[in-house]
Amino acid sequence: MLHAVVTAVEVAAVKADATAVDAVGLRVGTMSGAVPEALEAAWPLAIAGTPLEGARLDLEVVQAAIWCPACQAEQSIDEFYALACPVCGTPSGNLVCGREFEVAYADMD
Ligand SMILES: [Zn+2]
Repeated sequence: MLHAVVTAVEVAAVKADATAVDAVGLRVGTMSGAVPEALEAAWPLAIAGTPLEGARLDLEVVQAAIWCPACQAEQSIDEFYALACPVCGTPSGNLVCGREFEVAYADMD
Protein backbone atom coordinates (compact mmCIF):
# COMPACT_ATOMS: atom_id res chain seq x y z
CA MET A 1 0.00 0.00 0.00
CA LEU A 2 2.75 2.44 0.94
CA HIS A 3 4.75 1.49 -2.12
CA ALA A 4 2.30 3.33 -4.36
CA VAL A 5 2.52 6.39 -2.10
CA VAL A 6 6.32 6.38 -2.15
CA THR A 7 6.35 6.00 -5.93
CA ALA A 8 3.85 8.84 -6.41
CA VAL A 9 5.87 11.20 -4.20
CA GLU A 10 9.10 10.15 -5.91
CA VAL A 11 7.62 11.07 -9.29
CA ALA A 12 6.40 14.40 -7.90
CA ALA A 13 9.84 15.10 -6.41
CA VAL A 14 11.56 14.46 -9.74
CA LYS A 15 9.07 16.72 -11.52
CA ALA A 16 9.62 19.48 -8.94
CA ASP A 17 13.38 19.03 -9.17
CA ALA A 18 13.47 18.49 -5.40
CA THR A 19 16.55 17.19 -3.67
CA ALA A 20 14.86 16.02 -0.49
CA VAL A 21 11.43 15.29 0.89
CA ASP A 22 10.80 16.57 4.41
CA ALA A 23 7.31 15.29 5.03
CA VAL A 24 4.48 13.48 3.36
CA GLY A 25 0.87 14.04 4.32
CA LEU A 26 -1.34 11.04 3.80
CA ARG A 27 -5.12 11.12 4.04
CA VAL A 28 -6.49 7.82 5.26
CA GLY A 29 -10.19 7.05 5.56
CA THR A 30 -11.39 4.85 8.39
CA MET A 31 -13.04 2.60 5.78
CA SER A 32 -9.99 2.43 3.51
CA GLY A 33 -8.75 -0.76 5.09
CA ALA A 34 -5.50 0.92 6.06
CA VAL A 35 -4.46 0.89 9.72
CA PRO A 36 -2.70 4.14 10.71
CA GLU A 37 -0.50 2.42 13.30
CA ALA A 38 0.59 -0.15 10.73
CA LEU A 39 1.34 2.55 8.17
CA GLU A 40 3.48 4.42 10.69
CA ALA A 41 5.33 1.25 11.58
CA ALA A 42 5.95 0.37 7.92
CA TRP A 43 6.95 3.89 6.84
CA PRO A 44 10.70 3.84 7.70
CA LEU A 45 11.16 0.61 5.79
CA ALA A 46 9.05 1.80 2.84
CA ILE A 47 11.20 4.90 2.35
CA ALA A 48 14.61 3.38 3.11
CA GLY A 49 16.88 3.74 0.12
CA THR A 50 14.46 6.02 -1.72
CA PRO A 51 14.63 9.80 -2.22
CA LEU A 52 12.07 10.02 0.59
CA GLU A 53 14.42 8.60 3.18
CA GLY A 54 14.13 10.58 6.42
CA ALA A 55 10.79 12.13 5.49
CA ARG A 56 8.15 12.44 8.18
CA LEU A 57 4.76 10.79 7.69
CA ASP A 58 1.80 12.97 8.66
CA LEU A 59 -1.36 10.93 8.79
CA GLU A 60 -4.70 12.61 8.49
CA VAL A 61 -7.43 10.18 9.46
CA VAL A 62 -10.76 10.82 7.74
CA GLN A 63 -13.78 9.69 9.71
CA ALA A 64 -16.11 7.75 7.43
CA ALA A 65 -19.60 9.12 6.87
CA ILE A 66 -22.68 7.96 5.01
CA TRP A 67 -25.57 9.89 3.57
CA CYS A 68 -28.71 8.73 5.37
CA PRO A 69 -31.83 9.10 3.21
CA ALA A 70 -34.12 8.83 6.27
CA CYS A 71 -32.37 11.54 8.30
CA GLN A 72 -31.59 13.53 5.16
CA ALA A 73 -28.18 14.12 6.69
CA GLU A 74 -24.60 13.02 6.63
CA GLN A 75 -23.86 10.73 9.57
CA SER A 76 -20.41 9.75 10.77
CA ILE A 77 -19.88 6.04 11.19
CA ASP A 78 -17.03 4.37 12.92
CA GLU A 79 -15.26 1.46 11.34
CA PHE A 80 -17.09 -1.11 13.43
CA TYR A 81 -20.50 -0.13 12.14
CA ALA A 82 -21.88 -1.79 9.08
CA LEU A 83 -22.98 0.69 6.47
CA ALA A 84 -26.05 1.80 8.39
CA CYS A 85 -27.06 5.07 9.94
CA PRO A 86 -25.92 5.19 13.60
CA VAL A 87 -28.86 7.45 14.47
CA CYS A 88 -31.87 5.67 12.92
CA GLY A 89 -30.38 2.38 11.73
CA THR A 90 -31.36 2.79 8.09
CA PRO A 91 -28.96 0.82 5.90
CA SER A 92 -27.09 2.97 3.43
CA GLY A 93 -24.35 2.04 1.05
CA ASN A 94 -23.88 5.67 0.22
CA LEU A 95 -20.46 6.32 1.67
CA VAL A 96 -19.72 10.05 1.47
CA CYS A 97 -16.15 9.75 2.68
CA GLY A 98 -13.91 7.31 4.46
CA ARG A 99 -12.30 5.37 1.63
CA GLU A 100 -9.51 7.89 1.13
CA PHE A 101 -6.00 6.66 0.72
CA GLU A 102 -4.23 9.50 -0.96
CA VAL A 103 -1.31 11.85 -0.69
CA ALA A 104 -2.49 15.17 0.74
CA TYR A 105 0.81 16.96 0.30
CA ALA A 106 4.55 16.47 0.12
CA ASP A 107 7.00 18.96 1.56
CA MET A 108 10.09 19.08 -0.62
CA ASP A 109 13.28 21.05 -0.80
ZN1 LIG B 1 -30.53 8.05 9.71
